[in-house]
Amino acid sequence: MRLAQRVQELRGEGALAVFARARELESQGRSIIHMELGEPDFHPAPQVVEAGRRALAEGRDRYCASRGLPALREALAAYLQSSRGLACTAGNVVVASGCKLALYLAMQALIEPGDEVLYPEPGFPIYPSVTHSLGARPVAYRLREAHALQPDLDEVARLLTPRTRVLIVCSPNNPTGTVYSRGVLQGLAELAARHDLAVISDEIYARIVYETPFSSIAALPGMAARTVVIDGFSKAFAMTGWRLGYAVAPPEVVEALDRLVMNSFTCAAEFIQIAAVEALRDPGGHTAAMVAEFARRRALFAGGLDAHPAFRCPAPQGAFYAWAHVERAEEVQRRLLEEGGVAAIHGRAFGPEGEDFLRFSFAGASGQLEEALRRIRATIVL
Ligand code: PLP
Repeated sequence: MRLAQRVQELRGEGALAVFARARELESQGRSIIHMELGEPDFHPAPQVVEAGRRALAEGRDRYCASRGLPALREALAAYLQSSRGLACTAGNVVVASGCKLALYLAMQALIEPGDEVLYPEPGFPIYPSVTHSLGARPVAYRLREAHALQPDLDEVARLLTPRTRVLIVCSPNNPTGTVYSRGVLQGLAELAARHDLAVISDEIYARIVYETPFSSIAALPGMAARTVVIDGFSKAFAMTGWRLGYAVAPPEVVEALDRLVMNSFTCAAEFIQIAAVEALRDPGGHTAAMVAEFARRRALFAGGLDAHPAFRCPAPQGAFYAWAHVERAEEVQRRLLEEGGVAAIHGRAFGPEGEDFLRFSFAGASGQLEEALRRIRATIVL
């Protein structure tokens, strides 16, 4: 059957290929420590599960509002105002089945064929993949070690052309953990205003920061009118499989996103949205406790890897990935998996700039991080 060109342009995700190989090795009896997936080994707080269960028992399993339940949209607006200083109301919020879907819809709404889209590299592989499929040109701005893994404003300015329409930012960034500095956010905001760019701000890791506070580009003066914030419940509330995300956007973009929802998945599941209201209330401080545990794992794992003579691994500022420089990274990744039983991802999965790096997720593998370090030391001997 003939496939549409836009689907042929789409790429997969490197993490899923490594996961498949790791599973194959396990089926042969090998022990594998999984550090390839960005999935917390926590589950949502018990009150969240209970709220979902109660909602189901009460029959809240029907079609509902395409933009999302008013109660959730109001709770989200209050949460984003108080935690990120976003000047938004429920009218700015559209709920989707996953942050990735919110990102996809935002890109559908804003990108035309022939546009140029600036995105961070190393970065989430979906940005260039979806940009290509929309007939537009992805243009990478780099996050280099020499620049403390921050965007270089001069480089971003040089990459701008009259065709540049959209700027994607991701802070904290997957895979580097970069929390964009205030100066960088201000510089990017000025460039966006001067060149009339729409900004997509992927804030899925906003709650997972360590010493460095998070700021949203949408909270800077004038930026709410040109920014679509996307976020979701997967990482901050350990709800990966619940598939719930959202976009916060100016009214005309909300209208467009709503039309896209109506033309695709109709609405996100009602009982999951009800549980999400409970997640946002977070009375037990579940998110803070999880982030404190990630901080402990970060010190243990990134610190341990950095002490290995073959690796250079500064502690990430945010998210839960150790982004480690190593010579011959592709071969090291293969040997760690095949010989050592540690699954990591070669940095090239996040763009050519990741060629000399590996990404290890410390979101899972709790209790196995010391063993992972032991295996790495035993496999990669200098
Ligand atoms: N954005 C980034 C940068 C991510 O790393 C991920 C997931 O790994 C997502 C978005 C998607 O999140 P969700 O699981 O809610 O679709």
